[in-house]
Amino acid sequence: MADIQDQQVEKKEIVVVGAGVIGLTTAIALQEKGQYRVTIIADAFPGDQRSTRYTSCWAGAHHVTLSGKDVRIQQIDKDTFDYMWQLSEPGKGPAEGCFLRLKQEELYEDGHGNGNVLDFYPDCKDIPNDNLLAGVTRGVEFQTLTIDVPIYLQYLKARFLARGGSVIRSTVQHINQILEGGPYVFHEDYLKRNRLARKVRVDGLVICAGLGARTLGGIEDPAVYPIRGQTVILRAPWVKSGRTLTGKHWVYIIPRRSGDVVVGGIEGVNDWYPLPRPETRTDILRRGLALYPELAPPEVRRAREPNIEDLLPLVIEDACGFRPARKGGLRLEAQRVRAEDGRSVPLIFNYGHAGHGYISSWGCAFSVLEMLTKEL
Ligand SMILES: Cc1cc2nc3c(=O)[nH]c(=O)nc-3n(C[C@H](O)[C@H](O)[C@H](O)COP(=O)(O)OP(=O)(O)OC[C@H]3O[C@@H](n4cnc5c(N)ncnc54)[C@H](O)[C@@H]3O)c2cc1C
Repeated sequence: MADIQDQQVEKKEIVVVGAGVIGLTTAIALQEKGQYRVTIIADAFPGDQRSTRYTSCWAGAHHVTLSGKDVRIQQIDKDTFDYMWQLSEPGKGPAEGCFLRLKQEELYEDGHGNGNVLDFYPDCKDIPNDNLLAGVTRGVEFQTLTIDVPIYLQYLKARFLARGGSVIRSTVQHINQILEGGPYVFHEDYLKRNRLARKVRVDGLVICAGLGARTLGGIEDPAVYPIRGQTVILRAPWVKSGRTLTGKHWVYIIPRRSGDVVVGGIEGVNDWYPLPRPETRTDILRRGLALYPELAPPEVRRAREPNIEDLLPLVIEDACGFRPARKGGLRLEAQRVRAEDGRSVPLIFNYGHAGHGYISSWGCAFSVLEMLTKEL
């Protein structure tokens, strides 16, 4: 017992701000290293009443890299895919139930799209031109996975807690609050008992605050901005493959393991309206059906050409979220910051993932682990 306590005392104290997919994944990667005691502080968690303050609950989400020519992100996305492929392995993967493995088609209306960056996905090949929809200049198909986001976020939180992680619900006003007092200055029970409690020394601070990085004191990154997304979620368990159209239009179809299908393709740069717009729903359904007529129930398709009226009874939710984008792209780097007692403490940034938070999550988390280990 004494040995265990001694080992725990020796562990470095790490605080992660944020409990979205980025904060949770990062916290797990650090926690499972075994050398760190990790606490997440966040004002929104999986399972809360959903709002645009927490983007992760609104994602589709599929793994289709958006890395373009950025070689670093290409590697991050591949690492994430490899890890999720293991998690989703049929009969063996520890989180199999959170994922649907499926065939994905990427269709481009102008030029050749993403070039060869999709090559790492299993069975990746060009779709013969004869089989392409009118107006499509190139099509690529491959195997990938989609993530049933509400379940997956619960899985991440449960995995973190089960292996000894701590979570505290609070709003951080300024990072100095953590650097001076440690995580427990935010812990209500602890405060009730002893407001003059001993401060806890923090050895590393990781910022995974998403859009919150705009306003969090000590970070206040003016390059962070929202890209508003809106989706319609249909109950259509007959849909078993994914499809995206990119070019003049942007439309995507993301079936989940549960039988729900996320239809979207809205990109509102600096659009802060926090609720779904009814006119946008109609537009999404019209474009979705044009791209993927099989969204309509099979019996309707057998009888006649489907229209969007046929989709309305299938709608189970209208969703709206703010992708946490950043001018100049993702911020994934380490700095040092001076704590109140004069110590130089590693401060790691992992935010600004825009529309690829899930796609890049594990690769970014492993990078944070590497940076922190080096700094400490
Ligand atoms: C419609 C839509 C579809 C999408 N589809 C996909 C997809 O298919 N694939 C994909 O990879 N991504 C997709 N995304 C993007 C993805 O959802 C985001 O990239 C991801 O959720 C960002 O996660 P995050 O953890 O950085 O931010 P968030 O989930 O917003 O989490 C931020 C966390 O920080 C906390 N926080 C912030 N400030 C403070 C503070 N001051 N004090 C305390 N806590 C604070 C919040 O409480 C929260 O816990 C989609 C997004 C949308 C909206």
